[in-house]
Amino acid sequence: MKKDSPDYPKSTHTLPMAPTGPTPPVAASPGEIPEKLLPGVGSVIPVASGKGGVGKSTVSANLALALVRKGARVGILDADVYGPSIPLILGVTAKPQSVGDRIQPVEKYGLKVISMAFFLPEGEALIWRGPMLAKAVEQFLGGVEWGELDYLIVDLPPGTGDIQLSLCQRIPLTGAVIVSTPQEAALQVAERAVFMFRKLNCPVLGIIENMSHYLCTHCGEREEIFGYGGCRRAAERIGTAFLGEIPLHTKVRADSDAGHPTVVADCDSPQSRAFLDVTDRLLEEIAKESRKADSATETRITY
Ligand code: ADP
Repeated sequence: MKKDSPDYPKSTHTLPMAPTGPTPPVAASPGEIPEKLLPGVGSVIPVASGKGGVGKSTVSANLALALVRKGARVGILDADVYGPSIPLILGVTAKPQSVGDRIQPVEKYGLKVISMAFFLPEGEALIWRGPMLAKAVEQFLGGVEWGELDYLIVDLPPGTGDIQLSLCQRIPLTGAVIVSTPQEAALQVAERAVFMFRKLNCPVLGIIENMSHYLCTHCGEREEIFGYGGCRRAAERIGTAFLGEIPLHTKVRADSDAGHPTVVADCDSPQSRAFLDVTDRLLEEIAKESRKADSATETRITY
């Protein structure tokens, strides 16, 4: 059927606003875009994966909460527009409110939270193309009252699509974190994500191996269900840091399903410690990256 035929199904899609939710401010036209979309945010850290289901959102939420536990001011932006799951993982039921033309993030466990899920009518899928996604990214950055934050964690959709492109083009990113399982199939696509970020001039801070190994809750035996060590080897191969490993553990899944992630629900467990250790490594890489950025600025001033 031709597109101009009267029977061609018309898109009913406008902005994905929940009927009761606040309306994000309309993004400024390119000429009006403010210089700094996130003036009060220290580091913006996108969390990416090559494919879905590797635990990217689980890791994003726990990393953000581990940073809160270390005393930082942290926000999380769930930009996984095709499967926003951060509100479920964090047990957020409230909707954000708007004050004037700005959206106030929802607060949970000391985190500021904004998700595409807040603006999608329940049960509806998102069928958007590049320019609309770019606009949504802009609204989530410039139209949200993030306030002063040390870190903004951005949970990206899997793969190498329009959201990633828009984010890299619109704001300076401190560096991306890649989450993968250790098996080759996941790693091959994760490597593509690394190359995409580098091509877009976004540094890659390192790779996290999720579902690294399974510790039997009955006998304690360790099983390497998806293989082991693949991410460390991949990190060496592509010249980035290996940030550590998170075990595959029933409690990690159950804590997320219950809306209180492992780092807050089970804070002294080995799996929670694994998230905290990965966060320490990540902070080291962030520090290295900001030293590099500082010396680049000094070089520019000198010449
Ligand atoms: P993605 O964001 O990559 O699609 P999710 O974070 O939604 O993946 O995780 C997919 C599923 O795997 C969820 O049910 C989640 O609870 C579970 N999961 C993630 N990481 C772990 C882990 N380390 N141990 C056990 N279950 C996990």
